[in-house]
Amino acid sequence: MTWPPIREELRGLQPYGAPQLDVPVQLNTNENPYGPSDACADDIATAVRAAATTLNRYPDREHVELRTALAAYLSKDTPHGVTAEQVWAANGSNEVMLQLLQAFGGPGRTAMSFAPTYSMYPEYARDASTAWVQGRRAEDFSLDLDAAREAVERERPSVVLLPSPNNPTGTALPPDAVGLLCKAAGDDGIVVVDEAYGEFRRTGVPSALELLPEHRNLVVTRTMSKAFAAAGLRLGYLAADPAICDAIRVVRLPYHLSAVTQATALAALRHAPELLGRVDELRAERDRTVGWLRAQGLTVADSDANFALFGTFGDRHAVWQGLLERGVLIREVGPDGWLRVSIGTAHEMDAFKDALSQVMEEQA
Ligand code: PMP
Repeated sequence: MTWPPIREELRGLQPYGAPQLDVPVQLNTNENPYGPSDACADDIATAVRAAATTLNRYPDREHVELRTALAAYLSKDTPHGVTAEQVWAANGSNEVMLQLLQAFGGPGRTAMSFAPTYSMYPEYARDASTAWVQGRRAEDFSLDLDAAREAVERERPSVVLLPSPNNPTGTALPPDAVGLLCKAAGDDGIVVVDEAYGEFRRTGVPSALELLPEHRNLVVTRTMSKAFAAAGLRLGYLAADPAICDAIRVVRLPYHLSAVTQATALAALRHAPELLGRVDELRAERDRTVGWLRAQGLTVADSDANFALFGTFGDRHAVWQGLLERGVLIREVGPDGWLRVSIGTAHEMDAFKDALSQVMEEQA
């Protein structure tokens, strides 16, 4: 018996995570490059100061004030509105999804998605002792709806994870995908539309939030880590039928959201217009970056997110390494030969383009 006596299926595994390196241009984890203003930071500090006076007490376990504020924020994206009873929050959408797997997955049950997709999904399933089944996306990374429906009908998953836009490809779901797959999953499964990058979608692409009244098995997850420019806060949330929130309540740890997190998130939400103020600019920078990469003769996946997947390279690691040597950190992720770059400031994207031109020239 090897030591420590870790679960058999975890033995020898490496923890998930992108390298955290101190380099001048960090374009590897799809963060928003713009930090909060002094006014916003001051407001957060005041809110945390107030919360500190009652730190001897546990926080509001049901985080009602925060759920109410998140519901108001989400209501802008659907004509049907969202209520606090439909919202649940946790420490990052990662924790929200783990809680979903804990409540709806488990031994004898299956979770599924369509590759290439977010590499944490199989880890949530594994951690919740849930079988993992992966379908494939089409060559252009879109979802083949007929094949996806057939896969869901065949596998009868308890949880279907559908990111829109998808990571690492940036692909948004076609409008009819969500309804179709919610129907295919039926009352045996929930369909989680992961809108971590939802705010970056191109105009005309609706949020799955609009479909909540039609499908009680639909869950839409969001995060404050990306467009909301608050990755350090660790706040993710979902909107779904209140019965789904009640199911999560059974598995969540008591007081999982600290008083400091709740106060910070509420203060950040009061500054939503500022924190989200650069989304249009980042979208435009994304489209410019995609155009530039294509002009270099590279293949680039259509992106509705704040990153672009591009390639293909015979030795992608050498390209990644060449960029790093020039102070630009991107992500070696996705299918073989592809690389992913997050969209930073115009200045950072210039540094990326200069470095990539040099590396490609060197390797030509
Ligand atoms: N979903 C997707 C598709 C992601 O790319 C990420 C972060 N990279 C997450 C969820 C989790 O984000 P967070 O826990 O910061 O909310």
